[in-house]
Amino acid sequence: MFIRIAALFGLSFAIVVGTLAVADRITLAQAPTPPAAGEPAAQVAPIPPVPAAPQPAEPAPQTLAPPVAITPPPDSAPPVATAPPEPPPAAVVTVPTPMPPAKPTIAEEKKSLAAKLLFAAKQLPNLGKAMAIGYYPRGCLSGGVPLPVTGPTWQVMRVSRNRNWGHPSLVRFLEKFAPAAAKATGWKGILVGDMAQPRGGPLPFGHMSHQIGLDVDVWFLPMPGHVLSKDERENTSAINVVADDWKHLNPKTWTPQHIAFIKAAAEQPDVERVLVNAAIKQELCRVEGKSNDWMTKVRPWYGHHDHIHVRLKCPADSPNCRAQPPVSGDDGCGKGALDFWFSDKVLRPKIATPSKPPKALTLADLPPACKTVLDAPERQPVQTSGR
Ligand SMILES: [Zn+2]
Repeated sequence: MFIRIAALFGLSFAIVVGTLAVADRITLAQAPTPPAAGEPAAQVAPIPPVPAAPQPAEPAPQTLAPPVAITPPPDSAPPVATAPPEPPPAAVVTVPTPMPPAKPTIAEEKKSLAAKLLFAAKQLPNLGKAMAIGYYPRGCLSGGVPLPVTGPTWQVMRVSRNRNWGHPSLVRFLEKFAPAAAKATGWKGILVGDMAQPRGGPLPFGHMSHQIGLDVDVWFLPMPGHVLSKDERENTSAINVVADDWKHLNPKTWTPQHIAFIKAAAEQPDVERVLVNAAIKQELCRVEGKSNDWMTKVRPWYGHHDHIHVRLKCPADSPNCRAQPPVSGDDGCGKGALDFWFSDKVLRPKIATPSKPPKALTLADLPPACKTVLDAPERQPVQTSGR
């Protein structure tokens, strides 16, 4: 009898435990999937976090720049990334069981999240071969390398942004360009602004391009003679060399050394384009004449009144890097070549009804290899032993 009672008791106990275990499993299955180790919370949260208030995109305050306008001229423009037509939203599946496997859910969710949040969350590059992937305003960077924040003839500004990364060819370019610019101008060196994020990709603020590790901004402000403090790197303002009318240069800030600086950049063989404000291009046309090869690479673009933007050609090791159509071969100084840039359309655009901001790029908009770059393990920084 006792044995039978004990057996019954044991059986009931087993049923209860079993039921609990099953319930537990169901609960686990229905609970939101926890973020994979090392993944930013943003990737699983249903609503992407609102990024912190945008800092000024470029070194100088935005208000200095002529308002960004509309139709780029056919030639110089780094192409504006326009989002492809939005696919219809996926139907919400409400069937309670069985739960879909967790992995595809995360992957799907990741695909629809703004890629800028995913790439900005990566503090280190991926472990992988160095490659520029995709197009300057729509791609990413594999195996990025950092430019040291202080070099013999350069210093990196706004270090907190963690944008001093690039394809090795960009770092090599800067290591050659910095002393060349110092020599050509008599400056102590150059101040380097934004390059790319550790894994490239779209940036949460500031640029459409700079995504594949081949773009860099270099300031018109010469490097001072001392190593800048952290605060100085964050708070020093760039100088605007263009006058208030946006048609002439500011004689108080523009110097002949700036021509030597731009020329030193454009003369480097890997350089595809050097973007400057139209008022600067106009001055180069006046001073440098029309017969210089390097002048063909220097192209007018919005802003760029306090820095040059240097873009390198696709490196040989990057088969998935899409080249920008080469410059037309003329120096851009012909009659009327700059008229567009000094037109009311650019300098005094009518304030139209505010249009919806362009849809943020998602992972699905980028080359598939960018997902691999994003998911790859990180490459730890090289430890210096101090000995
Ligand atoms: Zn730039």
